[in-house]
Amino acid sequence: MSDTISSCISCGAPMSTKFCPSCGEKKISDSDFSLAHLLEQGIDVFTHLDSKLFKSARALVFKPGLLTAEFVRGVRKPYMKPFQVFFLCNILFFFFLGGYDVFYIPAKWFFIESQYGSSIRQLAEQTAAQKNLDINALAQLYDAKVVNSSKLFVITLVPAIALFSWPFGGKQHPQYGKHVIFALYFLSFMMLVMVLYAKILIWLPFRIPPIWFNIPFLSGLVLYVRFAFNRFPDRGGLIAWLGAVSVVAGLVVSTIPYRWLISWLTLHSI
Ligand SMILES: [Zn+2]
Repeated sequence: MSDTISSCISCGAPMSTKFCPSCGEKKISDSDFSLAHLLEQGIDVFTHLDSKLFKSARALVFKPGLLTAEFVRGVRKPYMKPFQVFFLCNILFFFFLGGYDVFYIPAKWFFIESQYGSSIRQLAEQTAAQKNLDINALAQLYDAKVVNSSKLFVITLVPAIALFSWPFGGKQHPQYGKHVIFALYFLSFMMLVMVLYAKILIWLPFRIPPIWFNIPFLSGLVLYVRFAFNRFPDRGGLIAWLGAVSVVAGLVVSTIPYRWLISWLTLHSI
C-alpha cells in the first residue's frame, strides 16, 4: 500500500500517515496478517498492559497526584485510564478483603439496635415480612451479604469525595470533573492501602484497638492528599493542607450516608 492520501476505513477522515489523525485507526497492509505479526500482537497485549499497569501503580503509590495532574494536562497514553485503575483496585480490595468488614456495617447497628434511624429498620421489617423471615434470620442473611456489597459499591463514594476537594481547586481547576478524576485515584490508593494494612494487622501477634490503626491510616491519607495538591503549582502551603483535611474529613463524613446506602442496597438484594 502506498502512503498517498486516502480516507480512514473507520471514520472516513482524510489520512496521509500510518495512523488516522482523527480516530487513530491504523492503515492496514498485507504484512499485518503475517503469522509473525499476529504473534507479535498477541504478546503486545500483555507487555503493553504491563507497562501501563506498572507505571500507573508506581505513580499511584509513590507519586501522589501525578496521575491526576497528567490526566488533567492531557498526558493519557502512558497510563491506565482513571476508571480502569479504580476498578482494578476495587477488584483487589474485594478479593483480598473478602472476609473482613472494613466498613463495619453489621445488621445490629441498623435494624436490631436501630442506631442509624428508623428508615432502615422499617425496610428491614418489610423485607422480613415479604420473605417470611423473622428479623434475626434476616439479620444473618444481611450480615453475610453486606460484607461484599460494602466493597463493591465504593464507587458511590467518588462523587462525594470530589465535592470535598472541589472548593480547593481554585481558579485553575473549577471543573467538578477534574475532582472526580482525583477522587477515583484517591479511593484507589485508599483501597490498596487498606488491603496492605489489613494484611499487616492480621500478621501482628497481638490485637490493637481500632483507634490505633485509624489515626495513622487517616493521617497517612491526609499527607497523601497534601502532596497531591502540591503538584498543582498554585495549590501549595495552607491551601494544600486545608484541602487535604477536607478530603479526608469528607471520606469520614461520607461513610454515614454510604452505610445507609449499602444497607438499603443489601436489603433490596435479599
Ligand atoms: Zn479515522
